Formats: sequence, C-alpha cells, structure tokens
Amino acid sequence: MKYIILILSLLSVKASAKFTDRELCNSLLEKTKVIGVARGFGTSENKNITAFLVKEMEKHNLIPAGNKKRSVYTQEFKARDAFGKMQSGSNVIGIIGKGDPEVLLMAHFDSIGSYPYQCRGKTSCLGVTDNATSVALILSIIPELKKYAKSSIGIVLFNAEELQQKDIANGSKYFIKNPTFPLKKVKLVINLDILGTSAYKALDKDYMALGAETGGKNLKNDVMGASVNKILRIRNFSYVFGHRRSDHTHFVKKGIPAIFFTDSDSMVYHNTKDSLDRVDFRKVREAAKLVSDLAIRASNPQRKYKFVKPKKFFTVHIPTYKDMYNFIFLLKDTELEVGKLERATQNKLKKSLDRMLDIYKKGEKKISLKDRKEFAEIATHYLLGSTNLPTGRSCL
Ligand SMILES: [Zn+2]
Repeated sequence: MKYIILILSLLSVKASAKFTDRELCNSLLEKTKVIGVARGFGTSENKNITAFLVKEMEKHNLIPAGNKKRSVYTQEFKARDAFGKMQSGSNVIGIIGKGDPEVLLMAHFDSIGSYPYQCRGKTSCLGVTDNATSVALILSIIPELKKYAKSSIGIVLFNAEELQQKDIANGSKYFIKNPTFPLKKVKLVINLDILGTSAYKALDKDYMALGAETGGKNLKNDVMGASVNKILRIRNFSYVFGHRRSDHTHFVKKGIPAIFFTDSDSMVYHNTKDSLDRVDFRKVREAAKLVSDLAIRASNPQRKYKFVKPKKFFTVHIPTYKDMYNFIFLLKDTELEVGKLERATQNKLKKSLDRMLDIYKKGEKKISLKDRKEFAEIATHYLLGSTNLPTGRSCL
C-alpha cells in the first residue's frame, strides 16, 4: 500500500510539472477575455488592465522591477495620446528569479482603443489578437518559467506601443532611456506582438519569427530547436523586415539580440473585427509552448548570443532577398484558397503574387530599394486582401 501511495504521489508530481493543454487553454482564454477590452493609452480601461497585470505579477511572487528600488511593478511615464492630449500610464515589469534578468519576455498590452483610422470615435476596437493574446500567453507560462528557468527572466509589459504616429513605441522608448535593471546583462529579448490570427486558413499553423540573425548562429539554432516537435511552423524573416513594427526595435539599437514573434496582419488588423470570437486559441496555445521552450533554453547561463548588427537600419520594413523568397514560398500555400474567392479578388491577388515573383526574379543584385518597398507593400496587401474573415477556433 505504501508503495502504491508513493508511486501515485510521484506520478502526480510529474503530471503537475508541466501544464496540461486544458490548464493552459483555460488560462489563455480567461486572461485574454479580461485584457481584450478597448484600452487605449490614457483611458480608464488602460489603468484597469494595468492593475490586473500588477495583481497577476503579485500572485506569482515576481520581484517588482518598475523601479530600481524593486518596490513597485509599475513604471509610470507621460505621453501624448493619439488626440494630442498629455496622459499618464505605466509599463508593468516583474522578474522571475532573484538576480538581474538576462532574458526579457515582452509584449505591449495597450490597444489602439478609439484612436484614429478605422477606430475613430468607436469603442469597439478591442485589439484582442493585437495584443491581448500575447500578454495572456506570457502570464500563462510564468508558472512553467518559474519551475524550469535557469536564470532570471524579466517580464516586461509595455504600454502605449500603439502611439506610433510621431513617436514609435512610447512605453518601450521610455524604458530604454530609463532602464530599471542593467541592460548590459540582457542577452536576449523575446517580443510578441499580434497572435491568434491568420490572413488565410492555409496559414493557421504558421508563426513568423523575425530577427533571429541578430543573435547569431546560437539564436537561430535555439529558435529552431524550440519549434521542433511543435504543431506550429516557424517562418523566419530578417530583422529589417519587421523593423519599426514593435517594441524590440529599441533593444536592437542598443546592441541586444531580439527575436520578434508575430502572426501576419489579417482582416482584423487595427479595426473593429479584432474581437474574442475571431481568436484562433489553438494557435495561441501552441505559441505558448514554443515561447516557453525558447525562454527556458535561453535562460541557461551557458547559452550566449553574439550580437550581429543588422546590415542597414531602414526607415520602414523592407525585405531582404531571402525574405522575398520565404514570403513567396509562404504565400504559395494560399493559392488554393485564393482560387475559391470571388473572381475579382482572385485576379487581384494572383496579380500581386505574379508581381512579387517578377521582382524576385530580377535577382539580388538588380533589385533596387524601390523594388523592395514595392514588394513590402504588395505583400501587406496580399495578406489583407483575402475577403475571408478569420474564424475563431477553440483551444482544445
Ligand atoms: Zn501590436
């Protein structure tokens, strides 16, 4: 009898060591629901979500890192909101483990709220896949990171990322100028922005990883290693292709390797359709396993990443020649689906793909900067061009 009890208790220890899919799914759904409200910088909803994130960090006993004294989780700053009004808000920062963090896991938690463009004056732009799901992912894997991380991991949740009109990514810009722990010790940042959506159904297993080359061979290997045996297919693109798209940019400028995980823009990007019912939670679940795996690998003190400076800092996102190849290869998967769309849409998309191929076929040496810009623009239109709205998918 004693043996049976011993064996049973050992089994239960083993079972609780890793998340079950059900636990992970419940956590992702529950947290996404809470965070996925209109929460533009400066609004009361933004402040409510800030308080929720602080509570989550308290619940997991993270070390507060909103200031150098380690007394609060919030790092307050002021910025002009999209209507030009000065507002205050906070980044929310905590550390898993005792020392200064060497690996940072980050995502922005604000949404465009009722900011201009498609959302002007509306309160229904919820920004669920941009970026409530990524924040829910990070919060949901904290218990796993606490168990398996081999050094401290910083959890950095940025505010005001969406205020990009004049000034890119304000929360992260403030943090980089006023770091609350030594940036010198940080060897890798993992940034998540836009998760749980696909421009086409054929891409519902694809997750893009941008910038692995900034951490040299080791980072490329670790990203690959973390995705082995996972359901998601990692599509690699260069840092410059995602340049200026999110918070990690400031870190690369400081010489810190950064990997940026993102889903493609889809029909819900920055509009009123980015709601809970459109989220592909199976994708979010699989992304959680992948990101957790990578963060744990990177936390090994023996693991070093040699910073490789991107060749050129372009002002907008521009594909390299290899990006073009990878992108065309990715879009090839969507052809069958495009063939089922309305004739006019079909023709437009086919023309776009042909044009991208034409540019690519010019060969690396003959492609001008103008060509690269055109390619990037067509690629975005191709992703936003499907008339199929993404349908949500439950986690299990
Ligand atoms: Zn975003």
